[in-house]
Amino acid sequence: DPGGNVRVVVRVRAFLPREIERNAQCLIRMDPVRQRTTLLVPNDTDPANARARSRKVVEEKTFTFDKSFWSHDPNDEHYATQEDIYDSLGEEFLDHNFEGYHTCIFAYGQTGSGKSYTMMGTPDQPGLIPRTCEDLFERIAAAQEETPNISYNVRVSYFEVYNEHVRDLLVPVVPHQPPYYLKIRESPTEGPYVKDLTEVPVRSLQEILRYMRMGDSNRTTASTKMNDTSSRSHAVFTIMLKQIHHDLETDETTERSSRIRLVDLAGSERAKSTEATGQRLREGSNINKSLTTLGRVIAALADPKQQRGRNGSRKDHNSSSSSSSSSVVPYRDSILTWLLKDSLGGNSKTAMIACIAPSDYEETLSTLRYADQAKRIRTRAVVNQVDSI
Ligand code: ADP
Ligand code: MG
Repeated sequence: DPGGNVRVVVRVRAFLPREIERNAQCLIRMDPVRQRTTLLVPNDTDPANARARSRKVVEEKTFTFDKSFWSHDPNDEHYATQEDIYDSLGEEFLDHNFEGYHTCIFAYGQTGSGKSYTMMGTPDQPGLIPRTCEDLFERIAAAQEETPNISYNVRVSYFEVYNEHVRDLLVPVVPHQPPYYLKIRESPTEGPYVKDLTEVPVRSLQEILRYMRMGDSNRTTASTKMNDTSSRSHAVFTIMLKQIHHDLETDETTERSSRIRLVDLAGSERAKSTEATGQRLREGSNINKSLTTLGRVIAALADPKQQRGRNGSRKDHNSSSSSSSSSVVPYRDSILTWLLKDSLGGNSKTAMIACIAPSDYEETLSTLRYADQAKRIRTRAVVNQVDSI
């Protein structure tokens, strides 16, 4: 099915020590059969939800997603482990990559909700990115035994969008030198891309994991009052898989290329105000720009009028000079949305993992609404294959 909807799943994490200390209440219920997630009204004792309680309307809300992952209580029979997340989403997306489709999985949610845990994980509990790498090289090894006439070529890149600049994470940071930023170009066939981005060929799991760790340690870590790690940057890990199939009988060569994009977005609370000042404020407002634009892009793509325009007349909404605002998706208004254009509304099978904390009414409601809107987006993935004799 080329015109599939964006797959949207939600995952709630366990309490952190600080939440246990303040006796936080878990506001999330999940129905594992109907894949429903319910946000409960906070009680009167949790100071973290004082602001939510002071609002006029605080209601219980229920949403349905493609999957609701309960990672709150490890003793629960429905507890979703890192492996469960991979088995239910990562594995299938890798199947699509071998079929020749581009895919994108991005993690959305407030700082501390579990985005990096889900995407990257820890050495003991690896997340989607290392599991995808592992499965990829296992499949290649198995295929090379069975079908020696197919050869495989894997390359990797890793960049971050920080303060509306693109930084190559596979280039070592030079101390006492200002970082250099890469420019974005748009090719008529390939779409937007990062010019001069490092793309390294990798031949083994060990090699790709080494680049993954190197990029991770290069990721910007400016701390603010709110958080500990890289919550202000959007990190994009990309694997390019090329399969070259040589048919010995017909002497025909077929080349399938697919792109696996795994995105750890900046904390969604950035779309609002922070307590930061000065340089931090400028950074905050620019990061805000990528996130608020992402919200506008998702809203535009989820608009039923937009869907009709795309499926009916098939006109290109970017070159279109139509006065109808619903036909213009503002991809180019931020670096992140420009680069993710294909993944959001084009040639890609795409999934969003909405990560939520268990006891934050306001932020969780905003994340669930965002995710609910993303469900309506349809993309048009095609097999990327070139035949030649
Ligand atoms: P984010 O990237 O969204 O800011 P993190 O992934 O860093 O959030 O998660 C915040 C904290 O919660 C980390 O200490 C992380 O290890 C922990 N955590 C997140 N999700 C889970 C989970 N599903 N199970 C156990 N610990 C988790
Ligand atoms: Mg993180």
